[in-house]
Amino acid sequence: MSKKKLFTPLSIFMRKRLTSIPPDFPFNSSQFKCSTSLLSPPPSITPYDRLLHEPSRYFGNVRVSIRSVCSASSQKIESRCWNCHAIPESAPFLVCQSCRSIQPVDKSIDYFDIFGLEKNYDIEVKNLEGEYKNWQKKIHPDLVHSKSEKERDFAAEQSAKVIDAYRTLTRPLSRAIYLLKLEGIEVDDEQTVSDPELLAEILEIREAVEDAADSEALNHIRSEMQEKLKHWSNVFADAFQSRNFEEAKSSIQRMTYYERVTDEVAKKL
Ligand SMILES: [Zn+2]
Repeated sequence: MSKKKLFTPLSIFMRKRLTSIPPDFPFNSSQFKCSTSLLSPPPSITPYDRLLHEPSRYFGNVRVSIRSVCSASSQKIESRCWNCHAIPESAPFLVCQSCRSIQPVDKSIDYFDIFGLEKNYDIEVKNLEGEYKNWQKKIHPDLVHSKSEKERDFAAEQSAKVIDAYRTLTRPLSRAIYLLKLEGIEVDDEQTVSDPELLAEILEIREAVEDAADSEALNHIRSEMQEKLKHWSNVFADAFQSRNFEEAKSSIQRMTYYERVTDEVAKKL
């Protein structure tokens, strides 16, 4: 990503945020329920990563509640450098341009903002890795060892948020769940399947996995699941685009299931 993209002028950033608020906001508050268990952090790679996840939990569950959406604008206005009180010229506000001190995580910035992306399901995942590395170069805690403890903590929080953002946006399923979450829509990935057709299919696939005699049979199931994932991923994309959130949710339920089977198959291979 170019530096230019990272430092979107505040006015543009705020405009983008405001346009993402549903038109009936804030009157239909039931739409703004958000489960904290919705998007648990992806499995940690190292104990260091696990530590990093702790401070990230708050923003890892972006609360698209009335309160947080409302506070986003006031937070922005009040968000001055904690050290020299300069007003930030850009967002995300990582380092103060005046005194170079590292800033705390801005909770109003979502994962898409971090990578300068529009809030779309279809994104160029392959471009994310480079952007992610650029971020890590700037804010990795190891690079700020000469800073104060407070700033090192801020850098760790920033780093954790970028890690969460990268992992969430890279995988289609977590990206889909996150997008709905930004719309204030809860997806319960443990929800019981009630569609009889899907139930029958689940039973059939489960049997096939159990009965698979060799890696050829397992690979066959895996490629079938990948096909289904692709199909339901497209269904989600269309449903999300047309703001048909019920359909988007049911696509997520199917994607969750097919991804689980894919994981099970991978374990057996
Ligand atoms: Zn400053």
